[in-house]
Amino acid sequence: MKYYSTNKQAPMATLHEAVVKGLAGDRGLYMPESIERLPQSFYDNIDKMSFQEIAYTVAQAFFGEDVNADDLRNIVYDTLSFDCPVAKVTDNIYSLELFHGPTLAFKDVGARFMARLLQYFIRQEGNEEVNVLVATSGDTGSAVANGFLGVEGIKVYVLYPKGKVSKIQECQFTTLGQNITAVEVDGVFDDCQALVKNAFMDAELNSHMKLTSANSINVARFLPQAFYYFNAYARMKALGKADELVVCVPSGNFGNITAALFGHRMGLPIKRFIAANNANDIFYNYLQTGKYEPKASRQTIANAMDVGDPSNFARIYDLYQGDHAAVTSLISGATYSDDMIREAMKQCHEANGYVLDPHGACGYRALTEQLVKGETGVFCETAHPAKFKDTVEAIIGAEVAIPERLAAFMKGQKQSVEMSKEFKDFKEYLISR
Ligand SMILES: *Cc1c(COP(=O)(O)O)cnc(C)c1O
Repeated sequence: MKYYSTNKQAPMATLHEAVVKGLAGDRGLYMPESIERLPQSFYDNIDKMSFQEIAYTVAQAFFGEDVNADDLRNIVYDTLSFDCPVAKVTDNIYSLELFHGPTLAFKDVGARFMARLLQYFIRQEGNEEVNVLVATSGDTGSAVANGFLGVEGIKVYVLYPKGKVSKIQECQFTTLGQNITAVEVDGVFDDCQALVKNAFMDAELNSHMKLTSANSINVARFLPQAFYYFNAYARMKALGKADELVVCVPSGNFGNITAALFGHRMGLPIKRFIAANNANDIFYNYLQTGKYEPKASRQTIANAMDVGDPSNFARIYDLYQGDHAAVTSLISGATYSDDMIREAMKQCHEANGYVLDPHGACGYRALTEQLVKGETGVFCETAHPAKFKDTVEAIIGAEVAIPERLAAFMKGQKQSVEMSKEFKDFKEYLISR
């Protein structure tokens, strides 16, 4: 499969090139040249298949030409060492729980898949070591670090701003050891990002060592997110509730919902989609007006969705060739203030005994407002509420238990390398490794 850039100015790339480069040379996002419709027999039998079997079928459609079948199977099965189940919340609303992975958020799926695919390509090339640089304001670092943990041939450097990430977030990437190094930068997130960007542009450094990024727009992180929408459909079908299925995705950079739209293009029988936003309402406004007007991001309690210029809008635009009517006939929107998010969390806990995190709460609320008779809704619960323990407890007035795997991180010993925000220091450090 070849990949083209949404900006159409860069040459087509192979999967290997697209994964290593992340962003195309013209700063566009890579798109697969074709999206294969899966056969009807697959959808007829999907409710009898396991999550891993379903995911492998979907993975073959995207990666089957480029990755040997046995290896692809191993990559998929190893990535999905945890389930993405649906849980009943009300009679017609179900939660697609994407928080059962190592860092308790959906980004685990894409990060684990990308790590394993990159390892596959490295082995083909004769085991040259690859260094992944990632700047984080909190959550991306933990998903990437844990996704790549123990993957041979890859070293990961997570750069984060000293004192500016929560304790729970920090321990998820500073306690791992092995091939993961946490670099504690004396600066803010933008300084971390600048160090990473400078490193990619420095010719001397790049001739000395192989550098790559694990950005969320990478095709190897983004496409595997389609897997769990197929699983959601399968599990809802088994319950006899899949005839008029509405999928609602709490969205920030819009990678997660775009993967769902790819699934739809592959024939997955979902009736329609809802993109639920917090106060960052750029996509919501696009749906109403047809105009895409990026803004500065606004800080909210659903902070992983605080995005003022969602990268994956380019992919959605490309998928529907800019046809606003085609987009609005399939996708509706919602936008919620922090107070409305709090209200939804409190109401859901009181009425259904189900604890939402602030991101999933946007999805739940949109379904309570927009479902019509006969429809069943599934929203993505994108993170475990314990990741936002203090916020959630203050809103619902009840304790949120910390899952064992999160508690285990918190018991670990912090290891980090202190770094100034000067590029020459960071470069010297990398060269000395
Ligand atoms: C990243 C993230 C989102 C937003 O997902 P996008 O793919 O960027 O739209 C939502 N919720 C949580 C918990 C996240 O970490």
